[in-house]
Amino acid sequence: METEKVRLLIIGSGPAGYTAAIYAGRANLSPVLYAGLQPGGQLTTTTIVENFPGHPQGIDANQLMEDMRQQAVNFGADIRNGVATKADLSSRPFKITIDDEKLIEADALIIATGAAARYLGLEDEKKYAGMGVSACATCDGFFYRKKVVAVVGGGDTACEEATYLASLAKKVYLIVRKPFLRASKIMQERVMQNEKIEVLFEHNAEGLFGDNGVEGVHLVKRLGEPDESHYDLPIDGFFLAIGHKPSSDIFKDYLEVDKAGYIVTEGATPRTNIPGVFAAGDVADPHYRQAITAAASGCKAAIEAERFLLK
Ligand code: NDP
Repeated sequence: METEKVRLLIIGSGPAGYTAAIYAGRANLSPVLYAGLQPGGQLTTTTIVENFPGHPQGIDANQLMEDMRQQAVNFGADIRNGVATKADLSSRPFKITIDDEKLIEADALIIATGAAARYLGLEDEKKYAGMGVSACATCDGFFYRKKVVAVVGGGDTACEEATYLASLAKKVYLIVRKPFLRASKIMQERVMQNEKIEVLFEHNAEGLFGDNGVEGVHLVKRLGEPDESHYDLPIDGFFLAIGHKPSSDIFKDYLEVDKAGYIVTEGATPRTNIPGVFAAGDVADPHYRQAITAAASGCKAAIEAERFLLK
């Protein structure tokens, strides 16, 4: 297998990875960054980012990520396409396999692999994958112009996706398992004030049906209560917005992770249990999961990596 030796390898191209690359580039560490499955990370699946400081009018999420990438390139980061498929962190240099075909040996490693969308675990989600089931409204909303869609979830992501879909679709149902939304007040208000969105509280999706892609969802209302009821709702698209799973699988044999799979770091630092391996952004953050907190931890990881490499 082709092997290349680098000083600092960064895996992931969200705000954490790119910020780490900017700082490491400015520190002359010649960082090599592999962008992963979704160059630009999760933010590229959203629309406008309104809460990243410095953009009072909001900024297009793809533009923000492209700007971060360019800023990293300007300082000498070597940004490449490719997915880390295997890791051996048992000794230094750390060995990371890219796309199952290239081995990178790195003196220091920053893991900024983020998190991936969660699914309910219904067989029908697989059956209708790409045929009406989606976990990314921004990517797929276009296909549902003037149609009827459902979004599952009650957090900020679900509210944001429902609001976005309402700008395209004829009608949006928000399927919420609890009798309340968990989202921030401002997002809740946007949903409640939108005439195209109908919130179905205390509802769960049990399955999907349709001969030509998704044509409807089997719903259960007040699951487990004495007045539990079941009914079918015709829809054209089914969007999941129920949270994310950290992308830490290939590192689990070496790094400490919590029950949900988030990489455990030392206090407020990005240090993992292996010296020279740092984790930044959503892969190590079950609490905040914001672009700005990810960027901040990417900065910390680069500073830590620099100190480690200079030792
Ligand atoms: P959250 O974990 O906040 O919310 C997940 C939602 O999905 C909850 O309503 C949860 O229900 C529901 N859910 C989970 N599992 C199931 C299931 N099996 N069946 C039905 N419903 C389920 O995830 P988000 O992705 O919404 O947000 C993650 C973080 O990112 C949050 O901190 C959020 O604030 C932040 N965020 C911020 C944005 C912004 O500021 N612009 C935009 C998007 C996200 P329950 O409440 O019952 O647990």
